[in-house]
Amino acid sequence: MAGKRFHDSGEADIYEIYMLGVLAECSRCGKCAHVQPSSWSEARVVCTACGFHKEITGRSSWNHGYETQTGCERYSESKIWLQTQCCGKTLWALNKEHLDWLESYVGAELRSRDISNGCVNSSMQSRIPKWISSKKNREQVLAGIQKLKEQLSKS
Ligand SMILES: [Zn+2]
Repeated sequence: MAGKRFHDSGEADIYEIYMLGVLAECSRCGKCAHVQPSSWSEARVVCTACGFHKEITGRSSWNHGYETQTGCERYSESKIWLQTQCCGKTLWALNKEHLDWLESYVGAELRSRDISNGCVNSSMQSRIPKWISSKKNREQVLAGIQKLKEQLSKS
């Protein structure tokens, strides 16, 4: 994965972030597998830990950005790797870039209420649920992001 920093470019886009690849739980060994999409509906899952690989099709449940109704976010049959319980909800990220973006978003909120001046993309911002952008949840959300970062560093 390229270390591109979307929040610096001001061009945060969920599709671009998604296309970099998604980290998911391997359905065979339970370790971190890499999902490389070729479109919203097609991707290839590869697990370097056990050698599992599979082509998957079908629209993903999270393709509208940051929406979650259930307690367990999945990509096709693969469980999203980076997820943790936070504020009674599931905080999740597709990959490192998505996590960095979330941190930047929540951090920017912390510094200033005005985050609309080209700092982050409005289309992605608008998909962020209220509980994440809520001031009263901020510390918990940032703690959740840190938890996911630790999880990422162990992956
Ligand atoms: Zn595996």
